[in-house]
Amino acid sequence: MLSTSVVTFNSSFVDQVNALSHEQTQLCYHCHKCTAGCPVSAEMTYGPDRILRMIHLGQKDAVLASPDIWICLACETCGARCPNDIDIAHVMDALRQIARAEGVRPGQPRVALFHDIFVTVIRFTGQMHEATLLGLYKVLSGDLFSDLVVGGRLFLKGKIPVLPKISRPGNMLAQVFRKSK
Ligand code: SF4
Ligand code: SF4
Repeated sequence: MLSTSVVTFNSSFVDQVNALSHEQTQLCYHCHKCTAGCPVSAEMTYGPDRILRMIHLGQKDAVLASPDIWICLACETCGARCPNDIDIAHVMDALRQIARAEGVRPGQPRVALFHDIFVTVIRFTGQMHEATLLGLYKVLSGDLFSDLVVGGRLFLKGKIPVLPKISRPGNMLAQVFRKSK
């Protein structure tokens, strides 16, 4: 006798992701071309095409808690390969936004921490300042000693300026942050 399992279809999650990403994820027919070309799919738990399938099945909790949405590099290789023009980088970005807004614990806490520090530094200085970014990341992650040699070499070559250049208020980035609120 065949066993059956019931999958609950939660269409509101698909709608939420589509609205935020401006993509039509339901056009995916799971050809796997996105995952085959993704440079970090080997590090992911599911890979981009399975993430889309889980969205279609309404598996919201599993998708938002997965490390994949934080591992994605937003390189857009998947979008370039997709025969249906689905830009999964936009979908992954929407999933990160939903996860953050709904207080879901990140599947890759360090990547999420780096992401938050990156945005905070840009918000307050108007541009990236690597020394602040790296210093805050090292302290807040507790990972004080990895990559010290590489970081030291970059510093000695002047690639990590000590003082940030603060952009004037009213610059384009400040406007972006204001509008995104
Ligand atoms: S390449 Fe496009 S259609 Fe194919 S599995 Fe990926 S998202 Fe779906
Ligand atoms: S955008 Fe993300 S999911 Fe798509 S190929 Fe790049 S890393 Fe992979």
